[in-house]
Amino acid sequence: MTKSYASLHEIKSEIAIGKTTVEKLVKGYLAKIASNTHLNAFNEVFGDEALANAKQVDARIKQGTAGRLAGMVIAIKDNICYKGHKVNASSKILEGFTSVYSSTVVERLLAEDAVIIGRCNCDEFAMGASNENSYFGPVKNHADQTKVAGGSSGGSAVAVQAGMCHAALGTDTGGSVRQPASFCGLVGLKPTYGRISRHGIIAYASSFDQVGPITRSVEDAALLLEIMAGTDAYDSTLANVEVPSFSNNIKKPGLKKIAYLQEALSSPGVNAEVKDTLVKYIDKLRAEGHTVKPIAFELLEYLVPTYYILAMAEASSNLSRYDGVHYGYRSPNAVDLLSTYKKSRSEGFGKEVKRRIMLGTFVLSAGYYDAYFAKAQKVRRLIREKTEEILKEYDFILIPTAPEPAFNLGKKEKDPVVTYLSDIFTVQASLTGAPAISLPTGNNSKGLPLGLQLLTKHFGEQELLNFAKYFLEL
Ligand code: GLN
Repeated sequence: MTKSYASLHEIKSEIAIGKTTVEKLVKGYLAKIASNTHLNAFNEVFGDEALANAKQVDARIKQGTAGRLAGMVIAIKDNICYKGHKVNASSKILEGFTSVYSSTVVERLLAEDAVIIGRCNCDEFAMGASNENSYFGPVKNHADQTKVAGGSSGGSAVAVQAGMCHAALGTDTGGSVRQPASFCGLVGLKPTYGRISRHGIIAYASSFDQVGPITRSVEDAALLLEIMAGTDAYDSTLANVEVPSFSNNIKKPGLKKIAYLQEALSSPGVNAEVKDTLVKYIDKLRAEGHTVKPIAFELLEYLVPTYYILAMAEASSNLSRYDGVHYGYRSPNAVDLLSTYKKSRSEGFGKEVKRRIMLGTFVLSAGYYDAYFAKAQKVRRLIREKTEEILKEYDFILIPTAPEPAFNLGKKEKDPVVTYLSDIFTVQASLTGAPAISLPTGNNSKGLPLGLQLLTKHFGEQELLNFAKYFLEL
């Protein structure tokens, strides 16, 4: 049985001394996948193919020609295209659709000899925070099967948590890499907006979407980031900035200035054990000599509404391409063009996706555009300016990743606003485009993982990773 290695570095050392092979690793992960189907983490497992690819990587290791990710067995979220493989975004509307090309991130991982073991369950079109909005059913948390996995990249997080692969890719629009990582005791990194290509990623809200790794260590997150990052002729939103060798440059940081959000400790909406963890780390950092100060963020109450107005508006536009003609599902009950659109979309999309398309269309409609969409754009700029002001004075902002640990399956489904509010701590980085990382900070009294989040300046990933590694060793 494959053990759970802390980092790729450990795996590589065991391969080097002949203790394991990539093929053996894949066999072990496949056995774990088979014995954990009840967690519902995978929408599809590429078993035979992963084994065949593993053998080829083993051969290249022997020849000394293997890439930097040889030994890394990875799962991808079901909204990341991989040529010749199905992709559903956990939606019925993409039923039967096969990717005609690979996303840039998949190509870059494969070029370095990663083995892709399957595609993971997620909230439909990445819309959700609990992985309960999936056409394939909810994902269960491996720490407690009555609890959610987090979302929207819940399957990716549980796949790593339960040892069904070594690392996974998710996408983060408003927290979807960081929050499930924190619910599953893992590292989740959302890079700066413009760092990683979205070519071949199924779009949710294009001014927010970023791909990010979910890993067991900061080093693996750094390595995956450096391999996936950098300009791409297929994505003009990428920034033309240097991509350092993040993983090789990780070093101990000097003394830093850290701001934490006062409201995270005073708000009754934040779980007591989450507060305790934050206090514990504030004390540890102070004891090490860092400057740690509370700040008030007066725009806090606008974060969630601004995010949801903009994300829904963008989603309503992005999802107009699913019309029953071009892709996937077409209603068998359609009789003409209009009913093809109407019935295919009514039957193909789930409830939450339909809610967002309708709200998004509403905020973009002529009569309400200025009151909602244009206003939210202005508030977004204020949020960004205020955040940048804080980051001029401080190196990092430290906040919880989520207000509470993994909650009960079914708990929030009935009231979408309650679910939306649980994104309060993750959407600041999304609205501003800043990089942020969720770090595992131990379990609560019931054995559920807790996580804290660090946020920093645009393209400050190296400093963020340096500090993250140090933080986990405190
Ligand atoms: N929970 C947020 C939403 O539903 C974030 C999802 C995401 O990051 N994809 O929009």
